[in-house]
Order: sequence, then C-alpha cells, then structure tokens
Amino acid sequence: MPALDAATLLMVITVVDGFACVVWLLLGEVLRIAPRAARRIALHHGLLVLAWWPTLPAGVEPLVSLPLSLICAGLLTAGVRGLMRLRHQLIDVVAMVLIGLAAHAVVYPDLTAARAISNLFAAALALIAAVDILRGTGFRRLVTALLVLPYLVLAGAGLWRTGGLLQWLPLGLGLSGLAANAPLALLRLVVNLAITTGLVALVMQRLIARVRHLTRRDPLTGLLNRRALEEHLQRLQAQVERGHSHALLVLDVDHFKRINDELGHAGGDAALRHLAEVLTDALRTTDCFGRLGGEEFAVLMPDTDETGAVLVAERLRRLLQERPLTWGDKIWPISASVGVAAMRLGDARGQDALARADAAMYAAKARGRNRVQRASAQGVAA
Ligand code: GH3
Ligand code: MG
Ligand code: MG
Repeated sequence: MPALDAATLLMVITVVDGFACVVWLLLGEVLRIAPRAARRIALHHGLLVLAWWPTLPAGVEPLVSLPLSLICAGLLTAGVRGLMRLRHQLIDVVAMVLIGLAAHAVVYPDLTAARAISNLFAAALALIAAVDILRGTGFRRLVTALLVLPYLVLAGAGLWRTGGLLQWLPLGLGLSGLAANAPLALLRLVVNLAITTGLVALVMQRLIARVRHLTRRDPLTGLLNRRALEEHLQRLQAQVERGHSHALLVLDVDHFKRINDELGHAGGDAALRHLAEVLTDALRTTDCFGRLGGEEFAVLMPDTDETGAVLVAERLRRLLQERPLTWGDKIWPISASVGVAAMRLGDARGQDALARADAAMYAAKARGRNRVQRASAQGVAA
C-alpha cells in the first residue's frame, strides 16, 4: 500500500472538519440540541478548515495556522464543557488561549518556537477537556475512559512534540508542521475522528436522557408519571413472584376542588408542587413516588410489608398536615386520604395491588378523610 502523503491527509482532514462544522451547525441551530456547545464545536471545525486550508502558502503557518489552531483548541474545550453541562466559567480556557496568542506574538517569526508554543497550549487545553469529561457524571467507567482517551493522546503528543521542538526530547513526530508531516497529519486525523465520535456519543446521551425524562416524568411536579410508575410496578411484581415483599400506597388530596376554587388553578398547581416537594424529602431514595393523575399520587415501597407501609403513610399524612401551603398572603391547610396495600403473589402486573390501595383510599374518604386505611382491614380504623 502506498504511504499516504501529508497533502492528501490534510485534504481529508479539511473535508472531515468542513462536514463536522455543518453537522454541528444543524444540530445546534436547526435541531436546537445543546445550541451553545454545538456553536462552539462548529466554530472549532470551521476555523480548523481555514487554519489548514491545503492551498495556503507555507509562510502563513506562524501567522495564521498556528494561532487559529490554538483558538480552535480553546473552542473545542469550551464545547466539551458545555456538552458536559459543567456550570463553571470559561476563564481558564480563555486565559490559556490569550496567553498562547501573546506568546506567539512574542516569538514571531521564529517558526520552531511558534510550533512549540502551539503544541504546548493545545496540550494544556486538551488536558482541561479531559478533566471536564472526568468531572461529568452519569457515564460508566469504560465509556468515560473511551471519551477521555483522544484528549490524552492529543495532550501527550502535544507535550512530546513541544519537548522535541525545544530539543529536550527525541523528535518522534518530526520537526515540520502539519502541512508537510504525514505522521502528524495521520495522528491528527485519527484523533479528530475519535473526538468527533465521542462528542456525538455525548449528544446522543443527552438526547436519550431528555426523551427518557419527558416520557417518564410529570411536567408539573417533576415526579414519576403514571407510565413510569406502572413500569416500576411491573418490575416489583416480578420480584414479589420470587418471594420479595413490597407494598404501595395511593394518596388523594382532600377537597382539592376547594383549593382550586379559592386560590385559582395556579394556586392548585402550587399545592400539587408543594405536596410533591414535602413528601419527596420524607421518602427513601429506593421508594418510587409518582403522580397517577389529577391530585392522586402513589408511592411504591420495595422491601416493605403492609404494616411498615402504614407507618410511612401515616408519617406522610401528618407531615402534609403540618406543612400548609403558603400562597400569597394566604396559608392553606392541605390534608390527604391514603390507602395502603401489600403486593401479592399472582397480582396482574401489580395493577391489582394498586386497585386495592385505591379502594382503601376511597374507604378512608368515606370514613371522614385525612386518614390512612389499609386494604387488608377495610372498614377497620387504621
Ligand atoms: P375529595 O376530597 O373527595 O378527593 O375531593 P376533591 O375535590 O379533592 O376531588 P375531586 O376529584 O372532586 O376534584 C379534583 C379536582 O382536581 C378536579 C380537577 O379540576 C382538579 N385537578 C386535576 N388536575 C389538576 C391540576 O393539574 N392542577 C389543578 N390546579 N387542578 C387539577
Ligand atoms: Mg381529592
Ligand atoms: Mg381524586
């Protein structure tokens, strides 16, 4: 196979960068996916096309290509920080780019020194991006390692080349710049492709998380919605069939219509959000708390028997009573009726337990509201 020459590789890099620029612009501006981060990454690719345009005369490298590629490295790191949803400012990235550009101006027109500076600062920016990825949460270790790897390669190669150009290290990647250095151009192409693949994976992960959130959460309270609750119920029922003991409760706000009538629909919405907040703080992280619809909620309690669930239900009921809603200058008491049921062997996908708890909740209403009723003792005060 004939060896690839630097000019051909540079052409391929330019085409890939141009294509990536358009794709990120579409993702950010048309599909509105992470628009700010997408803009930074699109600009990164777009400026790289200009920086290493194949027909640029060799003499412009210290004046155009090297400063521009430093700015591009900063834009990439800023894009990664945006995609990782890290809130901290970009001061470190901007400072790194500005100091690098100032150093370029100082050494101009010394090409070797300019290349050393460019590699050194690009390496530092790649390391910042690697640290940002490591700080991001929600990935498995292998995925994080794969995402970080190209930045570490970029940083390692940059530092090694800096050492080589300053004659501190053997010059493994040659003295010449990207436009006349095939191994360097090949490394650049491979790392670019790995980085782009990683960034696309990050965007996909964001999209999947957003869709999952939309389909499983109640928009008003942020709690699980009925669909998500039913999924959990089905999973718990499968465990019940294997000998586990789980329980659930259904909670309905008393006289909710009066809240709507007196405080308006916005006041009613605020009451539902208030309830969700107060009760979420009182539950275990393993409990699944969701809104079944209207002013009716459910809590699925794994590894809890009916007696334990009644204690939880009583605690929630009391807590709600102690924490009235403050709406403008009004303080509005909220109470709820709760039905508790244990999940049983043979229940159809857990729905039967939900129906038993619902019936117990209505029994609690019939008995005067603001109370807890266990399904196994309907008609008996809980
Ligand atoms: P009870 O004590 O018997 O449960 O009486 P209630 O008034 O709480 O129950 P009812 O089922 O008669 O009324 C529930 C009301 O909840 C009716 C509906 O307009 C209101 N509602 C349902 N969903 C929402 C919502 O998302 N926001 C607001 N503000 N009101 C809602
Ligand atoms: Mg009600
Ligand atoms: Mg109701």
